[in-house]
Amino acid sequence: MKIERIVAAPLRDGSRLGRATSPRAKSELLVDGGNTLARYREFTGRGSYHDTPWSDTVCMAFAEDGTWGMGMTGHAGPVVPIINEFLAPLITGENVMATERTWDMMFNHASLFGVGGLTSYAISAVDLALWDLKGKLLGVPVYELMGGPARDKVHCYATGMDFDWMLECGFEAIKVPCPYGEALGNVSLDRAEDLAGLARAAIGDERELMMDCWSVGSVEFMVRFAERMRPYNLKWLEDFLYPEDYEGFEEMRRRVPWQTLATGERWVTHLPFMEAAAKRSVDIFQPDIRWVGGVTAVQKIGHIAEGAGLQVALHGGMNDSFGQHACHAMSSNTWGEFLVDSASGVPLEEGWRPTPGMTVPVNGSLVPSDAPGFGIELTRDELEAMTG
Ligand SMILES: [Mg+2]
Repeated sequence: MKIERIVAAPLRDGSRLGRATSPRAKSELLVDGGNTLARYREFTGRGSYHDTPWSDTVCMAFAEDGTWGMGMTGHAGPVVPIINEFLAPLITGENVMATERTWDMMFNHASLFGVGGLTSYAISAVDLALWDLKGKLLGVPVYELMGGPARDKVHCYATGMDFDWMLECGFEAIKVPCPYGEALGNVSLDRAEDLAGLARAAIGDERELMMDCWSVGSVEFMVRFAERMRPYNLKWLEDFLYPEDYEGFEEMRRRVPWQTLATGERWVTHLPFMEAAAKRSVDIFQPDIRWVGGVTAVQKIGHIAEGAGLQVALHGGMNDSFGQHACHAMSSNTWGEFLVDSASGVPLEEGWRPTPGMTVPVNGSLVPSDAPGFGIELTRDELEAMTG
């Protein structure tokens, strides 16, 4: 069976799933402050600098018999033309089952202008659409195609700020997005320590606590940050340096040898993970399946991690069907991240769910849909209506 057509479009209407339940109380969800310009005092605390102006990208892959699969990624403005004008003509007509080959073709051909950044987003959407298509053609869930399930269910942690609500939902581990960057120096360190203290007091000593710094620090600041966090027994410190500051990650490893370090959501393709594994500069890899290169890339990264004795915990892995299937399949993936964006009292089912049909964690663990492909419950008409 050959790939008959690949086509991408911006997501114009992602509101198919409504929210029926009113919040119990006004709760602070994600802190408005993890932004790329947080090193400047005038931008600190302005979360809008974390966003881009583009909507999500939806990619559809069609087989010769009319069966179709769907993938998603971000930044539609530049990503849609990379797919439609560059990647789609390259792999149309290839064997629809040969995802190792099609990924490798896209990866190598993208070297003309660089496989990093937005190019990897485009490759991810195409690869995800092809894996969904393979699952539908064979009538099996993607996690089985990947060799899973690795476990009965995925053990999840919650990311957010509403500690009471996250505990009520049954999560046994909590990650806090820290909004305080280095622009304010000791003031930021004091506030971050207060936040860690609040979180630890709320969840108790038995549950795991993690802190995500959203990639806005320097080694000098983050070493001091890690030392301040030491009394709060962080399971890991996450995204503490500029993503491509590979020497910085090695320096952090040397200067805070006692702290488990995690990163990787903004690394793309398997290559940065290979280097980090070789240097042992971080302990836990966090690729995002919609950005890093899709299923094919996270499989490569999972095997690199296993070879080096490291762990994987996909970024936002529980917040869409793609990550759920990969986390369920990969023996290297030890945790599933669920970003809790439903306010206190609003069921997790009514929060942000970009792929209809996806399940949500129950008592802190999750089993993905076993429907074919990624189990995304969208008809072709519904999908085309959402992409205009
Ligand atoms: Mg992160």
